[in-house]
Amino acid sequence: MLKFSKANAKTEALKQVEELKPYLADKRKIYSLDLLSGYSCPFAEKCLSKATVDKATGKRKIKDGKKTEFRCFSASQEVQYTNVYNSRKHNFDMLRGSSQLEMNRMLYDALPSDAGIVRIHVAGDFFSRDYMLAWMTLAELNPNTLFYAYTKSLKYWLELEDYYCSIDNFVLTASYGGRNDELIESQNLRFAQVVFSEAEANKLGLEIDHDDSHAARPSLKNQSFALLLHGTQPKGTDAATALKALKGVGSYSRKKLTTV
Ligand code: SF4
Repeated sequence: MLKFSKANAKTEALKQVEELKPYLADKRKIYSLDLLSGYSCPFAEKCLSKATVDKATGKRKIKDGKKTEFRCFSASQEVQYTNVYNSRKHNFDMLRGSSQLEMNRMLYDALPSDAGIVRIHVAGDFFSRDYMLAWMTLAELNPNTLFYAYTKSLKYWLELEDYYCSIDNFVLTASYGGRNDELIESQNLRFAQVVFSEAEANKLGLEIDHDDSHAARPSLKNQSFALLLHGTQPKGTDAATALKALKGVGSYSRKKLTTV
């Protein structure tokens, strides 16, 4: 059985958002379904990092991609916490290589009966078109549950655009840093952009999402936003310098942000 996870500190904040309260009526809860970072992200580029396992010692370490500019926060978590690594690997191993129908069935069977809001992937991404389609089908079958996700799998999104637009309780956000970033502008996709500072967000005219509410609210389905850089960054990169400057400054010191 796939393993859904309970809300983390960030998704927990969604409970305070007025628009989302109906989804959480009758004590319904917030969950996520996570996959192994990097391995499940076919279009990741600037964020690409993976937890790799040393065959001799069994120890995990981080491996950045050739073009990594800001290290994937959830891959770092997978290096640090064995239970997190195992549970995401378990989900990914179950899903990859399965048919769309099998994935539909797995998601349907594993969805907790009290799920009010589901963040698809605190870690991981849509690794195939069929997998994204399986989630959309799940949302259509569960109209009282809200599903939302960040993705760099823009090609799959565009292939399924008509179906996507027909499902009110399914909200996608394109995140920059992937191999098909040009599609965001050319296809006018709603996006989240990781910024190195609050000033940069202001310059771009984007509000900063501190609590996942911009990502989740159906009413903002067409409104782009910014996310502040976070996590551990590769030494010597612009991201590492920016992160140093951000620590202890403004909202960054008060909020724990999650990788997209
Ligand atoms: S940031 Fe997201 S898309 Fe990039 S490697 Fe991590 S989980 Fe995958």
